[in-house]
Amino acid sequence: MNITVQKFGGTSVADTERIRNVARRVCESRSRGENVVVVISALGDTTDRLVKLAYEITPSPREREMDMLLATGEQVSVALLSMAIHELGYEAISFTGAQVGIVTDGAHTKAKILDVKVGRILDELEKGNIVIVAGFQGVTLDDQITTLGRGGSDTTAVALAAALGAEVCEIYTDVDGVYTADPRLVPEARKLSHLSYEEMLEMAATGAKVLQLRSVEFARNYGVVIHVRSSFSREEGTWISEGDERMEKAIISGVTHETEEAKVTVFNVPDRPGVAARLFQALAAENINVDMIIQNVSADQRTDISFTVGLQDLSKAAEISERVAEELGAAGTVVDEGIAKVSLVGAGMRTHPGVAADMFSALAESGINIEMISTSTIKISCVIRAEDALKAVRAIHAKFGLDKGVVMRA
Ligand code: ADP
Ligand code: ASP
Ligand code: MG
Repeated sequence: MNITVQKFGGTSVADTERIRNVARRVCESRSRGENVVVVISALGDTTDRLVKLAYEITPSPREREMDMLLATGEQVSVALLSMAIHELGYEAISFTGAQVGIVTDGAHTKAKILDVKVGRILDELEKGNIVIVAGFQGVTLDDQITTLGRGGSDTTAVALAAALGAEVCEIYTDVDGVYTADPRLVPEARKLSHLSYEEMLEMAATGAKVLQLRSVEFARNYGVVIHVRSSFSREEGTWISEGDERMEKAIISGVTHETEEAKVTVFNVPDRPGVAARLFQALAAENINVDMIIQNVSADQRTDISFTVGLQDLSKAAEISERVAEELGAAGTVVDEGIAKVSLVGAGMRTHPGVAADMFSALAESGINIEMISTSTIKISCVIRAEDALKAVRAIHAKFGLDKGVVMRA
């Protein structure tokens, strides 16, 4: 069976007119004989509003209840889209994640998909239905509703594409592809026609919110090609697949930034084996993803350890750090929310020396101080002051001439 998986994000279904637009696009594919599975997000800023409501009730909502709340957003949109499709004279049926069998682990608010049962979807496609699945949500083996972390509908879509054997997963959004930087902040940014999984993974991991990181991991693991494109135009978007000979060989793919992180520093910890392990084990036990880590040069057998975490995990991370700091006899813990991380991603870094030096000089020329640095083979990230983020992204983008054209590898 030839199956097309199409995902439409929140802005693409922000109001009833846009829902009708999505319905028309989906029906066009159906009229070409495709078997269409649609994944959609909650309407517009629904998820943000639900989060805000929860925090009006309590500063520390339980994560299970958060999932019960947030999963409602997508249930609204699937039903409305199904109705809009019926209005156009096509058959469609909507499902929650639990109904179709998107099985996840029990890590509420950032659950991981363990299994996707496709039987029910295939039955409905067989009957001629367009199948609409609520993004961003799943169910545990003991029937708890879970959500997949912000932006999780992308992951629902790619996981379904993988499970259904669809060759391409189409991600429809409010920009027409993946750009060399967030096009809303850097108007000169250019659309990339192709990216390898590896490049897109680094971009997503460093703040290019156009795709959730997990969705790219899924795509790479199962060989699903992703096509990121606009809900509002017919233009070809950005293709994400395994790198091959025909692909653009850009030295640099793009500049990304992340402002939703904070830095935690534990001061004056004893510099002996097992200290870092103790701290980071305690964080991992609570499912907290730590991003960058630095340990300062020690003096008098004492040292400082700093790390960055997502803002959503900050209060938990700070609490744990304080507890461990006390146990270790450290001087204390300080939290700094005023940071941003800017990153430069490009597969050509492996073979082109001097990329890091150019990035640091772009920051220096703009008078921006670097507080932390981390690298991978194809990425350089710097922590800077949050208020410098935009200036930094623009300066690095210009330094590498990304506005003028993509610099190709030989
Ligand atoms: P959706 O609601 O469709 O899931 P998102 O808001 O999650 O959409 O993702 C699309 C947004 O990602 C764009 O509006 C854009 O501002 C942002 N974005 C950040 N970095 C990039 C990038 N490098 N290329 C394209 N879009 C980006
Ligand atoms: N509605 C969820 C969110 O806003 C999931 C998504 O849009 O992908 O994060
Ligand atoms: Mg998104």
